[in-house]
Amino acid sequence: MTHQSAVKLGITPRLFAERFGDSAAQAAPGAVFNHPDALAGFAADCEVLTFEHERIDIGLLKALEDTGVLLRPGTKTIQAAFDKIHQRRVLKNRGFQVPAFAEVRGPDDVFDFASEHGWPVVLKTVRAAPPGELGVWIVEDRHEAMKVLAERSNLQLMAEELQAIVKEMVVLVVRRPGGNTRCYPIAEITNQDGACKEIRAPAAVGKRLGAEVVQVALDLANALDTVGVLAVELFLTTEGLVVNELAARPHNAGHWTIENCPTSQFENHVRAVLDLPLGPTWSNAPAAVTINVIGTLDGIDPARHLPEALAVEGAQVHLYGKLPRPGRKLGHVTAVGHDIETARALARRAEAALHGRRPS
Ligand code: ADP
Repeated sequence: MTHQSAVKLGITPRLFAERFGDSAAQAAPGAVFNHPDALAGFAADCEVLTFEHERIDIGLLKALEDTGVLLRPGTKTIQAAFDKIHQRRVLKNRGFQVPAFAEVRGPDDVFDFASEHGWPVVLKTVRAAPPGELGVWIVEDRHEAMKVLAERSNLQLMAEELQAIVKEMVVLVVRRPGGNTRCYPIAEITNQDGACKEIRAPAAVGKRLGAEVVQVALDLANALDTVGVLAVELFLTTEGLVVNELAARPHNAGHWTIENCPTSQFENHVRAVLDLPLGPTWSNAPAAVTINVIGTLDGIDPARHLPEALAVEGAQVHLYGKLPRPGRKLGHVTAVGHDIETARALARRAEAALHGRRPS
């Protein structure tokens, strides 16, 4: 989608993809598939380098930046966005509210954390979870903690205090080099089986809370000196506002901006990394709802049901051309309308159609 936005502006994007068949590679002719060692040669031919996920070696990016490659956002932002322990420390040091957390090197670190903060404990991966896998486990006791640690011994984990979440929100800020910023309307998200399922924009928040959320996001974008889209995930808890996570790239919770904003998050990301004027970020229609199309246990490809989904007039269907696997995000549908309920009903019908069922 970033690639398509660049093409629209007459820019020639080049893609460095992990493997043939990656969703982005299907949209980007001439993609380069190679070993990370080939990245330097690829980067030498580019004016500016950006990325769309976090499963990249930070050392590799730092080395490129040190040789003069223009990386946007830069490694200061990347480190805070890619490494959740570093992220928590940076945010805490700068006075942002984050859940209590600790590094986990072994079971004792979890037990010590639980004696201080109580069970359940949230265990999560420090780096992005492998594609299609969940990276968060809520463990009730020592036994469950040991089980997760044993099963995930290949991953670096951290412990976190369980938050009493009232609402989950995501706000996207886009920032140009030098500090010019724009902020999209706040979106509210609902999870299902640990994965983001539904995104509603605007979030149902009062003026005062909304202003607080936007201020946190703008302060964060400036503190990290980011360039491009910064997605700030926040929890409204019974204790107040807490920053959950940052992503320094276009975000799944911002797909609705394609249909309902004058400038999508993808186009504004491209504009920002090229230091071009940013476009307006307001909503056209009063409400937008996006529902992620997530692979089901039966392994059926939603593309098989495309005709039924396209028959839901007004819903916008996006399929990513991925191999269907349970739990994997295979696409999304967005609907816009006069109010959230109308948009949601339409999006639900199209999403259900893609799974070959009626809306629940
Ligand atoms: P991911 O990188 O997989 O999106 P997140 O840190 O955003 O991981 O967590 C995914 C979901 O897990 C969140 O949207 C939230 O519902 C839940 N979660 C994460 N951390 C906590 C926490 N400390 N307390 C309660 N729920 C949490």
